[in-house]
Order: sequence, then C-alpha cells, then structure tokens
Amino acid sequence: MEKEYQLLRNTFEDAGFTDEQIAFLTKQWYIDVLARIRINSFRIELALGSYVDILLSAAASVDAEAAVGNAIYMLPSFYNHDCDPNVHILWIESVNAKLKALRDIEAGEELRICYIDASMDHDARQAILSEGFGFHCKCARCISND
Ligand SMILES: [Zn+2]
Repeated sequence: MEKEYQLLRNTFEDAGFTDEQIAFLTKQWYIDVLARIRINSFRIELALGSYVDILLSAAASVDAEAAVGNAIYMLPSFYNHDCDPNVHILWIESVNAKLKALRDIEAGEELRICYIDASMDHDARQAILSEGFGFHCKCARCISND
C-alpha cells in the first residue's frame, strides 16, 4: 500500500501539480478511498449462463476464487443492505445491472439488496457483515433475531 500511495503521489508531482494542489493526497485519504472501493464494488465473474447473479458473490464477500475483477456501479453501489431485501440485482448477459423486485414495494420505501447469502443464520450473517463490510446489521430480520 505504501508503494502504491507513493507512486500515485509521484505521478501527480511529475505531472507538475503543486504541493498546494495535492494537499488532499494524504496517506489517510488514500486508505479511505481504497476502503470505499472495496466496500462498494461488485465482484465480476466470467458469465457462463444467460442469467448471472453476481450479487451473492459481491466483491467484499469472503470467497473470491472465480472473480476476474471488481467494478463500481453508480447506482447499485449505493444500495444499502438488508437481510430480507426488497430488490435483487441481476446481471443479464452483460455488465448492465437490472433490478428485480422481490415483493411489493411501497412508494418511498428504500430499495435494499442483500450483500451476502441471506440463508445463513443470524450469527453467521452478523459475523460476515462485520468482518467484510464493517457494520452490524440492524435490519428488521436481525432485530427479531431471525
Ligand atoms: Zn440484517
């Protein structure tokens, strides 16, 4: 990480940016950016079928064997998590995300996806969300201890 940070900083300096112009480029800024990319990216796998759902294998999930890369999507990367999601992201024969409602959704209701395998029990979900995503889920399902 140190080497990559220094390379980035040197690139800006070599391009003629002044210290004042790159004052934002601190090591903490770089760490924060890397963390945001990791948390909000989706894992990309080679599509073998016509309907490929890579949400279950999102970038921050534990198993990364089949991944060929990661991508940040403007809209899908903003969706919050719920262990009982109301929408699901489908990737249909391309890298374009399609949203599928899993039940009726009230006007104004937040669209939420599940970052992990929702079939796991409460403790397993909490452990993975805490370890992989840095939060303790407080969705209705978790609050009810399901
Ligand atoms: Zn939850």
